[in-house]
Amino acid sequence: MSRAGPRVVVAGLGAMGSAAAAALSRRGASVLALDPRGPGHREGSSHGESRIIRQAYFEDPAYVPLVQRAYRLWRELEADCGERLLELTSGVMVGTPTSVLVQGALASARRWQLPHRVLEAKDVQREFPALRPSPDQVGLVEPEAGVLAPELGVLCLLRQAAGHGAELHFGERLLGWEESRDGVSVRTDRSALAADLLVLCCGAWSGSLVGPSGPPLSVERQVAVWFRPQNVADFCAPRCPVYIAESSRGEFFYGIPSRDRQTAKAAQHHGGRTATAETVEREVSGADLESLREGLAGIAPDLASAPVDRASVCLYTNTPDQNFLIGRYPGAGSVLLAAGFSGHGFKFAPVVGEVLADLALLGSTEQPIGVFDPGRFEVTRAATGEPPGPVPVPPPARP
Ligand SMILES: Cc1cc2nc3c(=O)[nH]c(=O)nc-3n(C[C@H](O)[C@H](O)[C@H](O)COP(=O)(O)OP(=O)(O)OC[C@H]3O[C@@H](n4cnc5c(N)ncnc54)[C@H](O)[C@@H]3O)c2cc1C
Repeated sequence: MSRAGPRVVVAGLGAMGSAAAAALSRRGASVLALDPRGPGHREGSSHGESRIIRQAYFEDPAYVPLVQRAYRLWRELEADCGERLLELTSGVMVGTPTSVLVQGALASARRWQLPHRVLEAKDVQREFPALRPSPDQVGLVEPEAGVLAPELGVLCLLRQAAGHGAELHFGERLLGWEESRDGVSVRTDRSALAADLLVLCCGAWSGSLVGPSGPPLSVERQVAVWFRPQNVADFCAPRCPVYIAESSRGEFFYGIPSRDRQTAKAAQHHGGRTATAETVEREVSGADLESLREGLAGIAPDLASAPVDRASVCLYTNTPDQNFLIGRYPGAGSVLLAAGFSGHGFKFAPVVGEVLADLALLGSTEQPIGVFDPGRFEVTRAATGEPPGPVPVPPPARP
């Protein structure tokens, strides 16, 4: 850490840590970033060939300005790295008119005047032959939705960080931290460091670093499957958009046209088993496939009966309200936390990096992040009699 700016340690080099390291180093911070695993590894949350990006955000209209900023930053990263990271395919959200998905997407589209159309079920099928909504469903189509390349995106962010002088230490793990008089003391499995700030971006491993009285996080196992449908052209862009469908039981299934034009990726959003990053079952079972096929039968029946090409296990790190945690670690002024992305964080990675750099270098950000305050669960804790506040020195993670 040799530059003149503040000394910042970034722990975790998945999507969020890589974006933070890139933004911080670009803006003059002296960055040391570490991760026990290698770039583009498949044990966390940022692998799997594709990620959806969309603007008519059913979860909450508060996310729309952030995702719009993220689109611009992904395009800038593409230009900087000379790689194609974002392909616009359009997107369709399918459900009954009163479903959480359609109502939520419509609320965001109206609030932010996003281009969109609402189609009846038969028109969804006519426009996108792979999709067969039931007659009581509608489809909200947004032209600006598309697909991101997650592994390449992370590599580009890492390249950018290194290009701006960040030291990247793969094979090095954060063990613990303690606030000091003038910053934070950081312990890794290789050394002890003094820094002005620590940025925690440890994904599904965050729980062991924030400790039992830190913000509540739970890890959920997710299975993504690539099918080989006979009519594969129907599952390729532009004939097939990215799609999310809400079933009559309130379950969410989604699909992404594959860039290889041979296969189509699909998965359930949530509905997975609670797990830990260390002990999660990483093999995909027959039962996993059966339950996905059952759900897909309601929206993309040709996938539900198609042979499987490949499958992968990935991890969600959920907060109780499924909103992110971004901000100062409660009670620790020298530690920033970016975690709990609850299965919908990837698209935001570059803007999360920018926000973390704002908080680290300016002390505040113009982006609307109030809803992500890591301290918001303290009130619930106090009401339920749980221990107040986080422990400033979390127990060491496993070496
Ligand atoms: C199947 C699946 C599909 C998804 N689909 C979408 C989608 O379509 N659109 C979307 O926007 N989002 C999607 N998401 C969510 C998105 O991918 C995640 O929110 C995002 O990738 C989380 O990034 P992260 O940096 O927090 O975690 P990760 O990328 O897992 O990074 C955490 C890093 O921390 C490191 N680490 C762990 N312990 C330590 C330690 N002690 N010290 C230092 N480093 C440590 C790990 O090795 C890891 O590299 C999906 C997620 C999954 C699993």
